[in-house]
Amino acid sequence: MAQEKGQPTISEITCQEIGRWVSAYLDEHVGDERKRQIVLHLAICAGCETYVKQIATVRDVVGLLPKAVEHPSDSHRLRQAFVARTRRYLLVAEGH
Ligand SMILES: [Zn+2]
Repeated sequence: MAQEKGQPTISEITCQEIGRWVSAYLDEHVGDERKRQIVLHLAICAGCETYVKQIATVRDVVGLLPKAVEHPSDSHRLRQAFVARTRRYLLVAEGH
């Protein structure tokens, strides 16, 4: 018995990768192997465990809100369009 059995070598996952995989992990969109890596990392890394819990909480809250918050870039674009239009109206009103 030169080798230990039942101890598969699991490539380590970094905190950075946790950040990248957290959404897929919470959506259950990760493979078994990846999920095991994440679970193992969370078991030994309090920082990432807290981080994942926070993301899960935020996602729960966001899930309860109307769809409007889902596309911040869209709302930003809309706001810019609104500002541009308002500016044009002001110029017209001032007689330019
Ligand atoms: Zn970590």
